[in-house]
Amino acid sequence: MDSFGRTVDYLRISITDRCNERCLYCLPENYHDWLPRGSVLAYDEFLAVVRAATQLGFKRFRVTGGEPLIRPGVVEFIRDLVAMPGVESVLLTTNGTRLPELAAPLFAAGLRRVNISLDALDPAIYRAITQGEVGPVLAGIRRVKELGFESVKLNTVLMRGRNDGEIFRLLDFAAEHDIVIRFIELMPVSLTEMLSEKNFYPVTELYHRLQQEDELEPLPDAFGFGPAKYYRLKQRRVTVGLIGALSDLHFCERCNKMRLTCDGKLRPCLGNHLETDLIPALRPRINPAALAALFRQTLTVKPAEHLFRDNYQPHRVMTAIGG
Ligand code: SAM
Repeated sequence: MDSFGRTVDYLRISITDRCNERCLYCLPENYHDWLPRGSVLAYDEFLAVVRAATQLGFKRFRVTGGEPLIRPGVVEFIRDLVAMPGVESVLLTTNGTRLPELAAPLFAAGLRRVNISLDALDPAIYRAITQGEVGPVLAGIRRVKELGFESVKLNTVLMRGRNDGEIFRLLDFAAEHDIVIRFIELMPVSLTEMLSEKNFYPVTELYHRLQQEDELEPLPDAFGFGPAKYYRLKQRRVTVGLIGALSDLHFCERCNKMRLTCDGKLRPCLGNHLETDLIPALRPRINPAALAALFRQTLTVKPAEHLFRDNYQPHRVMTAIGG
């Protein structure tokens, strides 16, 4: 429990700041400030942090990045995470490009829940946003469905004039494959041109658009375990989640998470510069008691709300923090 009575039991772990795509809203153009290899935590260091977190009641762990599936050894890391006592749920967020070959080994490692970023179905629009190819992502989505993953969700970052024309195609695709789709408002988590008022598409606007096109049935809060609000579109027969960090004034009331950056900083809030350096408790050797103490102390300073509405200027890019 944090100082505002929220149960915080969910840790997002960025295992790398590198990515094989370059999304408009995520990485600034000509970004070169990659972390030196040695400053990125080794897998046993991540596992030591997870062990400390489970002792404080953390139960859910999301592996993210950067693109987590480009880091060598990720399948074995996920196997170790799944097997760790106290870990109830392991989740993965990926751009899906490597799922065609990795979905089966990940499933064998015990992974059952995956979120896949899909900002467009049209190959040219997808390419314009990510500089990547949508084909392998769609093949990866089909693969996880064939394998029987328990939870598959799509994440779409909404951008006016870029992919707002794709919304209904994406909903139809999600319905066809029986997948939940979440639309995410742009957040100022990187210094990129894209993050301007002009490109911002509030989920409140999407909500009204969906209401005009379909019948929306609100689903109970317990449906997901984060700040998304879920609805069932009755005619389209698809479940949609709306994630409105800026337009939803109650967004932070349901915040249950902290983030571990790939270089060992624990962040109690995505929209705040507060971070605790865990490195002194990890190097030169792992000190479990010191780790637990730093974790507990970080939980006590978790802010009531993010600062995104206060002209927030990010100091780190999202790939390092772990979206
Ligand atoms: N590479 C993986 C992927 O693409 O899913 C994991 C990392 S990515 C940073 C995690 C999530 O953060 C993605 O769903 C991405 O769309 C979202 N994201 C990144 N930058 C964002 C921004 N400025 N606003 C909103 N969501 C963002």
